[in-house]
Amino acid sequence: MKPLGVMPIPNDAEDRRDITPVICYPNNNLQNYDRAFYDSVKKDMKFVKKIIIPPRRAGTIEIPAGFIFRILSTDGPQVGDLNIWNMNNLDEKFYSGKTRALHGTHVGVGDRLWSSFPYLRPMATIITDTLDWYGFDRYGGSVHDVIGTRCDPYTNNLLSGKQYHNCCHSNLTRALADSQSLRLDEAERLVHDVLNVFMCTGFTHDTHQYFMKASPVRPGDYLEMFAENDLLVGLSACPGGDCSSEHSSDVVKCYPLIIEVYEPILDLSNWRPPHLNKYDRTHGD
Ligand SMILES: [Zn+2]
Repeated sequence: MKPLGVMPIPNDAEDRRDITPVICYPNNNLQNYDRAFYDSVKKDMKFVKKIIIPPRRAGTIEIPAGFIFRILSTDGPQVGDLNIWNMNNLDEKFYSGKTRALHGTHVGVGDRLWSSFPYLRPMATIITDTLDWYGFDRYGGSVHDVIGTRCDPYTNNLLSGKQYHNCCHSNLTRALADSQSLRLDEAERLVHDVLNVFMCTGFTHDTHQYFMKASPVRPGDYLEMFAENDLLVGLSACPGGDCSSEHSSDVVKCYPLIIEVYEPILDLSNWRPPHLNKYDRTHGD
């Protein structure tokens, strides 16, 4: 949406545009995805518990470090807005912006979900994605984005003037307040930008605006993650349903989502959660 053509074009404009880009955060220094380890963890596991999240509602569930959780589509195409907190310290929460900077606009198997400053360590690792066949479509769209923040009543009010209370932001706020016995305003401050599970999004080629389209998810599809720490996971079944037309309203068809939790049979007694970030926090002082 940047206006073009106002300023004079310099003689070397094309030369400047032709400069080859470099990756902002070369991630070869990150610990490689240990496929053999995660494959052995998920090979044999025991079902522990599950939560069913009704349409236009959110729920939370505790997941111990070393366990596996699976976000499952059921009944019909539905996207989910995911929040993650450290179960023992709600100040450590998922950092979608830095996850995007490190792994790209959409995440898949082998990518980590990183935590906020000053912790900045993996909270969860994606180990299975039944939609990994989708790749990027001809519009530049893909699934599981870390670009869309979350649908919220403030932006909705800004654009429509309406009061709507079932946005993912509000759903997550109510669910977190209920589960942690917090006031709504306390819980709201802990709700953060999400991983848009199953949502199909991208940026338009011409104006580079954020777009959504009908999710390719179908009942039985799931996204599976390994909990790198003790986690409190929150998930909202977005009022946008499959996000093919609109969100922030009760117009479109919505379906439930399920989170299933599994305990690996593999002995993980020698495995440890990732260490805290090693920056000394003196900030040059
Ligand atoms: Zn939403």
